[in-house]
Amino acid sequence: MPQYKIAIVGAGPAGYFTAQALQNSQSDELSFSIDMFERLPTMWGLVRSGVAPDHPKIKTVAKVFEKVASEPNFRLFGNVEIGTDIDIEELCARYDAVVMCTGSAIGKKLGIPGEDLPGSLSAAEFVPWYNGHPDFASLDVPLDGTTAVVIGAGNVAMDCARILAIDPSELDSTDTATAALEALHTSSIRKVYIAGRRGPEHAAFTAPELRDLPKLEHTDVVISKEEVEAAHIRAEAAGEIEKHLASNLEAWRLIAEHPHSGHDREMEFHFLAAPKEFKGDGKIEEVVFGINEIRDGKVVDTGKTYSIKANLVISAIGYEAAHINGIYFHNGKIDNEEGRVLGTNIYTVGWAKRGPSGVIGTNKSDASDVVKLLISDLPEQARPDCDITTFIPAGIQIVDQASWTKINAAEVAAGEALGKPRLKETSIEKLLEMGK
Ligand SMILES: Cc1cc2nc3c(=O)[nH]c(=O)nc-3n(C[C@H](O)[C@H](O)[C@H](O)COP(=O)(O)OP(=O)(O)OC[C@H]3O[C@@H](n4cnc5c(N)ncnc54)[C@H](O)[C@@H]3O)c2cc1C
Repeated sequence: MPQYKIAIVGAGPAGYFTAQALQNSQSDELSFSIDMFERLPTMWGLVRSGVAPDHPKIKTVAKVFEKVASEPNFRLFGNVEIGTDIDIEELCARYDAVVMCTGSAIGKKLGIPGEDLPGSLSAAEFVPWYNGHPDFASLDVPLDGTTAVVIGAGNVAMDCARILAIDPSELDSTDTATAALEALHTSSIRKVYIAGRRGPEHAAFTAPELRDLPKLEHTDVVISKEEVEAAHIRAEAAGEIEKHLASNLEAWRLIAEHPHSGHDREMEFHFLAAPKEFKGDGKIEEVVFGINEIRDGKVVDTGKTYSIKANLVISAIGYEAAHINGIYFHNGKIDNEEGRVLGTNIYTVGWAKRGPSGVIGTNKSDASDVVKLLISDLPEQARPDCDITTFIPAGIQIVDQASWTKINAAEVAAGEALGKPRLKETSIEKLLEMGK
């Protein structure tokens, strides 16, 4: 029976669900040996460095990932970056198939004046900062002003705004990175605006996230009743209201009608607000918005503007994939057809394939679909065995599954003592030491 060798690049949800789909496809006639490569010494992708620390239940999916990793046909090569430490061509020559599950880690730019002023950050920097991603541990997040603006109308924007707007004590028992938590404790920010360029009826927030907002203990959430009413009228005029929109509109109504308790912390939604310019002398001081309106179902610039004084702006308007040597990207994604990179034995799953859409579970069905294609493409003969470690440059300390298990256990133990699910280490050097 041929045993096919599959390389999975990226230890996020797409990577683990791909490994799981391969494991579940094994039969008397078909078996796989799976090598997973991850550039960091820590695993689980955005489950570790994206999902908000105050949503710990979502992270329990990591148990599924560790079950997949415990199977005898799975090997982990953490702290190995593909395209840098090993060329894609080396992998393609030695594995029957290479599955790129490398995600979408670069924040999209607004392309407006002042965007590069200090104090203007992308969610792709701010989120991994508070989540302890080693690349962002020393990010400068100015928290000394009283007002922050978050630009975007999706769940990532909501996470950013919530982390800035809640009382930091609500994060004490979470796995928020220690340095970020300390900084948030000193934060002067009391007012956080979330701005979307279209109406509430177009926003990509999901209803459960919206419904959680009135439950915030120390933060009043503000949206004008008129704005919600107008969105409802427009949605009705546009035709039948779909279930998810009806659910969102109802959630908006609940937020608008929820009595304010006079907290000094506030999160306020602004819609039909298009960022035009960030102004400031050496740092962000003001955000200029154009006022949009909806005419005949279309978003139209009225030509009017207004400004909000703020020292911190976070843009959460989407992600695109980071470049990897040897891979061709198109429109921020790996160039692919239904997961196949045509003319190669490379496949792609997850955000690298689809772009930044879908929840963790979406990657499971995606992986299952792509693995079916991969299996249908397999040649009759599997490639001969090869020791991939000989292609990893000397001096790179590989984090294998045993080593990652040690890192994971050490973080959990350190957190337990403090009443947290884990205490994240953000130094690569220390992580590697913990894995020895
Ligand atoms: C801020 C934020 C909050 C979210 N919250 C939720 C939520 O609450 N619930 C939910 O269901 N979904 C949530 N999501 C969505 C969810 O995280 C994604 O659907 C999922 O993580 C995408 O999986 P992925 O494996 O494609 O990418 P990722 O999770 O990004 O994993 C990619 C992995 O590839 C590695 N990698 C990249 N390049 C290389 C390379 N060259 N060599 C080796 N390794 C490499 C990266 O280090 C990373 O570990 C959130 C997303 C974000 C951004």
